[in-house]
Amino acid sequence: MSALILDGKEVAARVRAEVAEAVASLPYRPGLATVLVGDDPASQVYVRGKHRDASEVGFRSFHHEVPADTSQEELEDLIERLNADPEVDGILVQLPLPAGLDAEAAVERIDPAKDVDGLHPFNLGLLVLGRDGLRPCTPAGVVRLLDHYEIPIAGKRAVIVGRSFLVGRPLGLMLSERGVDATVTVAHSRSGDLAAITREADILVAAAGAARLIGAGHVKPGTTVIDVGINRVDGKLVGDVDFDPVAEVAGAITPVPGGVGPMTRAMLLANTLTAARRRRG
Ligand code: NAP
Repeated sequence: MSALILDGKEVAARVRAEVAEAVASLPYRPGLATVLVGDDPASQVYVRGKHRDASEVGFRSFHHEVPADTSQEELEDLIERLNADPEVDGILVQLPLPAGLDAEAAVERIDPAKDVDGLHPFNLGLLVLGRDGLRPCTPAGVVRLLDHYEIPIAGKRAVIVGRSFLVGRPLGLMLSERGVDATVTVAHSRSGDLAAITREADILVAAAGAARLIGAGHVKPGTTVIDVGINRVDGKLVGDVDFDPVAEVAGAITPVPGGVGPMTRAMLLANTLTAARRRRG
């Protein structure tokens, strides 16, 4: 293997340390509220991790667990109570929601100033406009990781595989923002010859949710490969990138686990700190 490993765990630990240092100098403790609907085991693990992170950096954390048969109205009432709670700076509704609940409507209920997942249409709109706002955690984590390793972005070709509102689209906007200045292609399941497109990339981001979709033949030598995908294959976590052969060709690569995942969690903390500072002045 010749590629440099981009260590998301280590960079995430730095982000957490920066947040903890900033919190220690505040006259208040930022508050993060999480809402978990139902008892999906993976969501429980994610939410537990977010609480552990929050308490480690000195936040107050408030956890609300409601049954899977909660109505849309009850869920939105809970969100409204958290919007009104002065101790709560950030609200995270763990997605996906159980069948029958409208995730978009729930996210739209969150006060955009407390939308630390950065998925409210208002915050996504600010991103389109290139204005300051709370940015979605996974794309923000990818950009932070690239910055940490001083991977050149300006003037480079970035190809993102996946066009979800959670990852691909906002990341495309962030990488092509003025001042960041990549030239971005967003590919998807109808893109045609995917390998021909991805081989153009200096920075290749795989965010498709398709195990080992990206092989060595998809990658130009020296490319930076960021693997956002999380797939479970035979009980093992694998990304969208076939790690071993791609690491022979790539210049730098993120592992799964230990790459983008920890960065996503860390950026939630950074967003909560930002939200608290803005709200409390
Ligand atoms: P999503 O909403 O399902 O979107 C997947 C996107 O990938 C879609 O745009 C889809 O195209 C495209 N796609 C799927 N298969 C493809 C293929 N064979 N070739 C080309 N494009 C393909 O998923 P998501 O929420 O963005 O998540 C993507 C992956 O990232 C998942 O594995 C998820 O678990 C993971 N994830 C990880 C983190 C983290 O912190 N590491 C955070 C969020 C998500 P169409 O639009 O044409 O259907």
